[in-house]
Formats: sequence, structure tokens, C-alpha cells
Amino acid sequence: MLADADRETKQVATGNLIVLTGPSGVGKGTIVAQLFERMPDLRRSVSMTTRPQRPGEIEGHSYFFVERPFFKSKIKSGELLEWAEFAGHLYGTPKEYVDKELMAGFDVILEIEVIGARLVKELHPDAVMIFIAPPSFEELERRLRGRATETPEKIEMRLAKAKQELQEKNVFHYEVVNDNLDAAINNLEHIVYAERLRIRKQVSQ
Ligand code: ADP
Ligand code: 5GP
Repeated sequence: MLADADRETKQVATGNLIVLTGPSGVGKGTIVAQLFERMPDLRRSVSMTTRPQRPGEIEGHSYFFVERPFFKSKIKSGELLEWAEFAGHLYGTPKEYVDKELMAGFDVILEIEVIGARLVKELHPDAVMIFIAPPSFEELERRLRGRATETPEKIEMRLAKAKQELQEKNVFHYEVVNDNLDAAINNLEHIVYAERLRIRKQVSQ
């Protein structure tokens, strides 16, 4: 059951909420960064996380890096659209930005893991659900190890999680295999354009 506030949001929202999911290391970040270069009118939600900042990541752009008590306070005050624990850290989507941009008519992309994606689909049944898949599990492992941003132990956690996530494709509307990077970005771009042309059901007043 949707809260009245969420119903109201849906009636006026004109942008599409695009949920991009896929196992860690599949190339989501790489794809999204290049998609934004091609489609600057898209909006990207910046998540909040308790994970430590990696070299090269920018506060407020890559993530909002916060401590656990602060994150918990945001859950309590209802400021997160969704949140989940992933490989020992908390991740969540600040709600206000998403609502504001959707209402202004912009398509908003969330790059999140599967549990959060399921929650978003419940709250926003119109959300466009896209799963980014690796060409093979072996290639996923190569990319994750090659990125070398996590300890070997954390990489194992992420690979175990990936096995589960690869079995949850039924939640999604589209599957984009990230084999050739350019082809994957092209496919994503086509999906975004096609979804703008979709005739959606009106929510009754
Ligand atoms: P995610 O955001 O899904 O965790 P990243 O975007 O960080 O994944 O990509 C993981 C690694 O895989 C990076 O080193 C990136 O350069 C590499 N990568 C991404 N896409 C491809 C591709 N199509 N072919 C080969 N390597 C790729
Ligand atoms: P990473 O630590 O590699 O940046 O992200 C780990 C996982 O958390 C990835 O699958 C990423 O998509 C996911 N993630 C990032 N932000 C969010 C968020 O706001 N909510 C949820 N549920 N997952 C997120």
C-alpha cells in the first residue's frame, strides 16, 4: 500500500525513475559516467554510504560518506527512499533529491544493489528496472580483482553476493550485458529514449 504522500508524488511526477543494478564490478559506474556524457539531461542520485572513501572518489559526487549513527538517524527520520546493507556497509538513496528532480520532469538514475532495487519497485511501480550483467562470472571476477579497490576478503564477499544477484533478474525489465562497453552504453541510451516514449497508465485521482 502506498502512503498518500507517495501517491501525490506519482500523480505529478513526469520524469522516469531508472534503476540500474548489477553485481559489484560489472561496470555500472563506468557505464553511468559515460552515459551522462552523452545524455547530460539525465540526473544521477548520489547515495549515502558508511563505506570508506576510495582514492579518487569525491565527497558529494561519488557518495555522501557518513558514519553509521548519522546513517541510522536518516533511516529513522524517513529521509531515505531505500537502503540496504552490502558487504558490511550501509548504502541508501536520499529521497528529497529524487522526488524533486522527478517532479521537475528529469529522468533520475539510481545505481543500487538488488535489495534496494526491489524496494524502489514497490514504492515506484513505474520505475524502469535495468540489470547490468557480466559476459561471464569469470570476467566479473577478473574486473573486480583488476579494480583492486577492496581487500581479497571483501572481494570474496562481493563475488558471493554477485552469485545471488545474478539469480534475481526476474525483478527487472531489461538486461544489458556489459561485454563491449560502447555497445552496453548504446543499449542503455536506447532504453532511456524508448522509455520516454512509453504510454503510461494514468494513476486515478
Ligand atoms: P561497478 O560500478 O559495477 O562496481 P566499475 O564501473 O567500477 O563496476 O567497473 C569495474 C572494473 O571493470 C573497472 O576496472 C572498469 O574499468 C572495468 N570495466 C567496466 N566495463 C568494462 C568492459 N566492458 N570491459 C572490460 N572492463 C570493464
Ligand atoms: P560500491 O561499494 O562498489 O560503491 O557499491 C556496492 C554496491 O552498493 C553496488 O552494488 C552499488 O550499486 C550499491 N549501492 C550504491 N548506492 C546504493 C544505494 O543508495 N542503495 C542501495 N541499496 N545500494 C547502493
